[in-house]
Amino acid sequence: METVVSGIRSTGNLHLGNYFGALRNFIRIQHENRCFFFIADYHSLTTHPDPKLLHENVRNVLSEYLGAGVDPDTATLYIQSDVPQVTELYLLLNMHAYVGELERTSSFKDKVRKHADNVNAGLLTYPVLMAADILLHKADKVPVGKDQEQHLEMTRRFARRFNNIYGVEYFPESMPCDFGSGLIKVPGLDGNGKMGKSEGNGIFLIDSDKDIRKKVMRAVTDEGPKTPNSEMSEPVANIFSIMKIVSAPDTVEYFTEKYNSCEIRYGDLKKQLAEDIIACVAPIRERILEIRSNDAYLSKVVREGAEKARASAEKTVSEVREIMGFKKF
Ligand code: AMP
Repeated sequence: METVVSGIRSTGNLHLGNYFGALRNFIRIQHENRCFFFIADYHSLTTHPDPKLLHENVRNVLSEYLGAGVDPDTATLYIQSDVPQVTELYLLLNMHAYVGELERTSSFKDKVRKHADNVNAGLLTYPVLMAADILLHKADKVPVGKDQEQHLEMTRRFARRFNNIYGVEYFPESMPCDFGSGLIKVPGLDGNGKMGKSEGNGIFLIDSDKDIRKKVMRAVTDEGPKTPNSEMSEPVANIFSIMKIVSAPDTVEYFTEKYNSCEIRYGDLKKQLAEDIIACVAPIRERILEIRSNDAYLSKVVREGAEKARASAEKTVSEVREIMGFKKF
């Protein structure tokens, strides 16, 4: 049995990227492994969320996890800030994380470019907090999307460094969990990049059928192929990438052939894609709406999850303290 850890920031509703990149893989293996799933509300602080919205956001993501299929009776589902041990491990790991390597992280460089007015220390040390989340339970496997590959590499580096410095074999090498098919990146419908919470290009698990149809029909395309078997432009390739994830293989094959023979009608492609997304999202959305209104259930899940997560975290942090030389008087 392996230990699996995964988390999602509480900065907004879950989208198809979160679901297909991380959540679905976690759900697939949750019954055969020791699994921890958390809502990263400390991580969300880098963008200074409105305190009036913080709790509501956590609540939404919690019901979305549950609606998508995380089973709190087997997996440990918890809120990051309910487990303060993570902040201690973060502090301890920070002592062996170097500013140069943190500054070279591509997500940090990207944030500096996009939000030059808010380059805070939390942003710089984001990969250390992420490493603390993962190492807190000594995770063997981490279901993540392709965008997190570098952060996970850093987690392994911090773990190895800790083991080397203190001469122990304590932290494992936490590996991404991709079921052998490679890590995936779900693109946005705006023609480039990845689907994200703040990019305004997401299809959310909570979206109505009408919203999904509207968003997909507005997806960026091009003027259509001019010669048989021509290379796809990025926006069209993105639509096909999403289709490969949500649609049946023969549907993908049908539209690929239409594209290759220059007979494709993008309107038909989008209509089919919208219906296939709806078929996957609608049942999840119904469960989310049901769970969201059940306060008693949500608080029971959070309470029990925090207890289980704290027990695991406390064990790790006290062992780390001992390894580092802290002793009780
Ligand atoms: P975030 O929404 O940035 O907190 O990401 C939470 C999880 O979802 C991480 O494991 C990410 O790798 C994954 N994820 C986010 N966006 C995408 C995407 N567009 N494609 C694949 N995985 C994603």
